[in-house]
Amino acid sequence: MLTADAVVKSYAAKDAAAPVLRGVSLAIEPGQFVCVVGRSGSGKSTLLNILSSLLSPDAGSVRYQGRDLAAMTEAERNRLRATDFSMVFQMHHLLPYLTARENVLTPFLSGLRPVSAARRRRAMECLDQVGLADKAKRLPGALSGGERQRVAIARALVTEPRIVFADEPTGSLDGDTGTHIMRLLTELNAEGLTVVMVTHEPAYAAMASRVITMRDGSILHAA
Ligand code: ADP
Ligand code: MG
Repeated sequence: MLTADAVVKSYAAKDAAAPVLRGVSLAIEPGQFVCVVGRSGSGKSTLLNILSSLLSPDAGSVRYQGRDLAAMTEAERNRLRATDFSMVFQMHHLLPYLTARENVLTPFLSGLRPVSAARRRRAMECLDQVGLADKAKRLPGALSGGERQRVAIARALVTEPRIVFADEPTGSLDGDTGTHIMRLLTELNAEGLTVVMVTHEPAYAAMASRVITMRDGSILHAA
């Protein structure tokens, strides 16, 4: 479904001798729940951002359903992010003056065009899926940290993506709340969603179907 082949990445030309990713290859199959673990600075976020098309590799390639992301136009990559890929970050990045439901609708906002009734229903469905239908009208400031992250997950789901990329989605949450978020991601995965998640919490990685360990820009151990 999604493959990386000998991906190399440096952020600055002067660092090219010691790249952040040193030739990473992997293949993600539909329906997998992949956790990427490893020390801080080992290249986990860089790998996730390259897999999700936000960053481009210096060398090597990433293919989605057989198509090289680098060969797509920017418009095609944007379309991919609007349809097949979604992201969840450590910080929820919700807009503070929009309600939970309005935040979930933001992937559909385009200019001044009103959002259709069908999409508004879809937003409610997603809030319901993350257990927040009753808090749809709340502003983020009136939600707990875990609830805000659940809104961010609902926002990632609203476009019916095939893959959700999550970079330490539990990183800003306490243990119980983090476990709740993990359970939610596991349920979504059981319904068919492919999940690629960075975490440094071994207990969460144990809930994944596959663990990839990064060290110094390489995959150390792929189970
Ligand atoms: P991880 O997510 O495993 O902590 P990252 O992929 O964020 O690792 O970072 C890997 C290395 O790349 C680190 O040494 C980090 O300092 C460096 N790095 C990450 N992002 C940037 C950036 N935007 N510019 C320059 N260096 C960066
Ligand atoms: Mg990181």
